[in-house]
Amino acid sequence: MGNERTIAYFSMEIGLEAGMPTYSGGLGILAGDTIRSAADLKVPMVAMTLLHRRGYFYQRLDPEGWQREEPVQWVVEDFLEKMPHRVSVTMDGRSVHICSWRYEVVGIGGYKVPVYFLDSDLQENSEWDRTLTHFLYGGDQYYRLCQEVILGIGGVRMLRALSYHNIERFHMNEGHASLLTLELLDEETKKAGRKSITQDDIEAVRGKCIFTTHTPVPAGHDQFPIDLVRRVIGPRGDFFDMEDVFSADLVRRILRSRETFREMKDILQSENVLNLTYLALSLSHYVNGVAKKHGEVSRLMFAEYIIDAITNGVHAATWVSEPFQELYDRHIPGWKQDNFSLRYALSIPKKEVWDVHNRAKKRLIQYVNHQTNIGMDVDLLTIGFARRAATYKRVDLLFTDIERLSEISSKVGFLQVIYAGKAHPQDQGGKELIKRIFQVKELLKKDIKIAYLENYDMEFGKMIVSGVDIWLNTPQPPLEASGTSGMKAALNGVPSLSVLDGWWIEGHIEGITGWSIGEGGPDRSKDAISLYEKLEQVVLPMFYQDRDRFIDVMLHCIALNGSFFNTHRMMQQYVLNAYFR
Ligand SMILES: *Cc1c(COP(=O)(O)O)cnc(C)c1O
Repeated sequence: MGNERTIAYFSMEIGLEAGMPTYSGGLGILAGDTIRSAADLKVPMVAMTLLHRRGYFYQRLDPEGWQREEPVQWVVEDFLEKMPHRVSVTMDGRSVHICSWRYEVVGIGGYKVPVYFLDSDLQENSEWDRTLTHFLYGGDQYYRLCQEVILGIGGVRMLRALSYHNIERFHMNEGHASLLTLELLDEETKKAGRKSITQDDIEAVRGKCIFTTHTPVPAGHDQFPIDLVRRVIGPRGDFFDMEDVFSADLVRRILRSRETFREMKDILQSENVLNLTYLALSLSHYVNGVAKKHGEVSRLMFAEYIIDAITNGVHAATWVSEPFQELYDRHIPGWKQDNFSLRYALSIPKKEVWDVHNRAKKRLIQYVNHQTNIGMDVDLLTIGFARRAATYKRVDLLFTDIERLSEISSKVGFLQVIYAGKAHPQDQGGKELIKRIFQVKELLKKDIKIAYLENYDMEFGKMIVSGVDIWLNTPQPPLEASGTSGMKAALNGVPSLSVLDGWWIEGHIEGITGWSIGEGGPDRSKDAISLYEKLEQVVLPMFYQDRDRFIDVMLHCIALNGSFFNTHRMMQQYVLNAYFR
């Protein structure tokens, strides 16, 4: 604190440890990696999120592969320190009291970034309000909106209560946090002793806000019926007159100052909904997508706005397996502080890289065999696929033609496949996909060993990205904004076999850092054919018959992609282009 110009980072989910179920997938992991890099690089930051006392969920899969969700029981006190400060927000005419819990992320040099988890489970609140910070992405729209009020409005109030008065920038990690802009507008009007918002207030707030959009998938952009928003946060809220926000006049003023003006109903309130992405876009002076291609796609989606791109990364020291950490420590001392130096990986002797990879692989295979009793073989080419089981990720692309696949495996070289991933509790399509993998697993039992591990989390994530030989990625272009698991694999010398989408468009050099699938178009059957051809003609032959070249690809993964697709490089770009500009 003190006089440091602090960045306040707001995210609905943050992945800090496997034991804390406060994340669901890539967005939360990215938030955690961002904070870890800020701590390593001594960037003054404070992070705000919700406690998620019952977690995302614990995934169980029955013998048919049907997913059942269990609330997670975690002992909050074992991880976090309770803070004495209290704030409240008014929602739907009720006062909801909020406290917070503190976690400290400590960087390599000892620098600390605090993370505050907001918690409404207090005796003063009604039974229902106490559940508001229980479930990540749970409940209906009303529940979600209340959660976002706690995060955005309660979060800013909590920062002030914690004596953070010198915030340089508010960084909204996805639109879930964008209600914080309303609290900042309110602060401006109060400072001036007014009840209504002026152009100056809007400019002041915009000068403080940064927004990162993370997905072109519509479900990723929150929107709430205007009537619901009115009911929850206005007009009887403890705010400036909320009708201001809904009035055509304000919207027009927000937009006019952007020089481009479109009808209000198209922007903030299309068909009487408040779109939180537009709210964040309109009140931020810097907006970015999370890969170059995603920047382009976002500029098409939101043509009125200037949108930059900062490609995601991963926190190297978090995602590199222990055997590889020892190898890097020996050959590239200082790599944890200076991720760029991983470019020198090219000079590591191939035999050492192969030995270290096999140590990581053995650990994974032993774990998988222990969990599933499937009897996988460490010497076989092992493909890994672990992701949220969202339909656009196309987890079943590999099984488009299972006869062809089993023929390739028996004729060219045996392969085995390890899967993991949770479907959102309300995503029936995603759940069906998991069942489909279980069906194919039975069908191919004699030819190809397939395992599906329960409850994908950070811990198993680290094990699988470092222990397989090939990382498979098959989203439907252009829906994968960035993707980060392939970056974790690259840091462990594991090449990607991936559709040309997200970060892979930037990280892919054919035959050097891995292999592409298809041409980046939307045609599923073309992608499936391309996938089989690459396996049959390139990947399997190289793995079994030209091991030396395969290891060469592994080295280039580390040197070209590990050295670049990390959150240290990413954080430096945020600092230069967004935070302190
Ligand atoms: C890295 C990671 C993700 C994100 O992976 P994507 O490839 O971006 O989908 C999701 N869940 C866990 C547990 C992870 O470690």
